[in-house]
Amino acid sequence: MAQKNYKEAIQDPIFSIIAEAAAEIHVDCFVIGGFVRDFILKRGIPKDIDIVAVGSGIALAERVAEKMANKPKVSVFKNFGTAMLRHGYIELEFVGARKESYHRESRNPIVEDGTLEDDQNRRDFTINAMAISLNKETYAELLDPFNGLADIESKTIRTPLEPGITYSDDPLRMMRAIRFATQLQFSIEENSFASILKNKNRIKIISRERIIDELHKILASAQPSIGLALLHESELLPYILPELSALQGIEEIEGQKHKDNFWHTLEVVDNISRNTENLWLRWAALLHDIGKAPTKKFHKKIGWTFHGHEFVGSKMVFKIFKRLRMPLNEKMKYVQKMVLMSSRPIVLSEDFVTDSAVRRLIFDAGEDIEDLMTLCEADITTKNPKKQRKYHNNFKLVRQKIVEVEERDHVRNFQPPISGEEIMSIFNLKPSKEIGILKDAIKEAILEGEIPNEYDAAHSFMLKKGKEIGL
Ligand code: ATP
Ligand code: MG
Repeated sequence: MAQKNYKEAIQDPIFSIIAEAAAEIHVDCFVIGGFVRDFILKRGIPKDIDIVAVGSGIALAERVAEKMANKPKVSVFKNFGTAMLRHGYIELEFVGARKESYHRESRNPIVEDGTLEDDQNRRDFTINAMAISLNKETYAELLDPFNGLADIESKTIRTPLEPGITYSDDPLRMMRAIRFATQLQFSIEENSFASILKNKNRIKIISRERIIDELHKILASAQPSIGLALLHESELLPYILPELSALQGIEEIEGQKHKDNFWHTLEVVDNISRNTENLWLRWAALLHDIGKAPTKKFHKKIGWTFHGHEFVGSKMVFKIFKRLRMPLNEKMKYVQKMVLMSSRPIVLSEDFVTDSAVRRLIFDAGEDIEDLMTLCEADITTKNPKKQRKYHNNFKLVRQKIVEVEERDHVRNFQPPISGEEIMSIFNLKPSKEIGILKDAIKEAILEGEIPNEYDAAHSFMLKKGKEIGL
């Protein structure tokens, strides 16, 4: 077969340095994996480059670092036989070629030194097993034993070995198959997909951190619904997010149906992904209707209801984050807040919008008001073009109103116009519940529009209110 030359892929002078270093210590070495795949796919500047050495990857990394002008630090991971060094923004990963054999009883493979072919055999997908030679006689040649090129051409995710072996050896590869299918918009080859279905319960042996890492990459893709649908169809989803699986399905009683909230959610996630790169806002979209399964009820007169699903959903966010070992920090609180508030602007957009309702919305959402509007706009999934136009127009009006009201009343980062200390000194009070009552009354009067958000107005209002409560 005519070999195309891949010189263009390895033009960066760093590759000549690596090649020289490898020749000096008499090991063969190759660029392999994601870098080669992404070069062929023209996916832009790489974040990391994997180099495989037939011999010691660590020794190669050290020799490369010595030859580089800036003498970068080499991070060595002895247990894994790998080493990493930085080249500008790029991480160079060095690993010795290895052969892995798995036994069903154990999660961890027996690892031995191997040839390039052994190393390619242990890779997850044909498109990730391609290598470019950095050796003198074969410099810049592509080594593609499983015809990954053809799979790139036909946009196919295929395992190098029999899929049952690849997936059962390391079940994380099931998630990776779905992740690459989503990022690259490729299809998973039929036997491979059947094998994922068959091996789905083996995902249980994989740590939640590694699973979440892949899920994050799916969510961060241009069209996350591809991966979410594949997780559903492969029946992996119930092992990861059973709460989301529970949204799937349409029930009908007395001729009344509700929408399928699973497929709706997938549309919302795709919609929002066109408007934000914020991973946590995408998480909020994914979980915004999560409370609908446990709150679903049928009433003879009004049909299907999901009362309080936003509140129930926001409580579920904590449980989900905890179970998946995700950070229980301000990111989680942000997702909770978005889920809790996810219906608020919708109510506004359906009705005549009063200033006080808008003030309350801005007050409650605070800094996150823009994100909340983005979430609600993404939530519009009606297929009726008339309704679609109407809802989008209404949200435009709500957004306008938010700007107007905020310019006038400044409630976005609400600071009480009169401090607790001042209330204490005016009424000659010790710390007591009356101070809270007055502060609250002032805030309420501002939000309701009884008084403007200004010192003088708040001051006279406070005096009047103080009298009323006998101060
Ligand atoms: P990206 O960096 O864009 O996520 P990548 O293909 O570089 O994509 P990495 O996770 O960085 O993915 O892994 C680098 C290479 O290591 C892969 O291309 C693949 O050849 C191999 N690899 C990674 N994880 C596995 C795995 N679980 N099983 C087999 N091979 C793997
Ligand atoms: Mg990589």
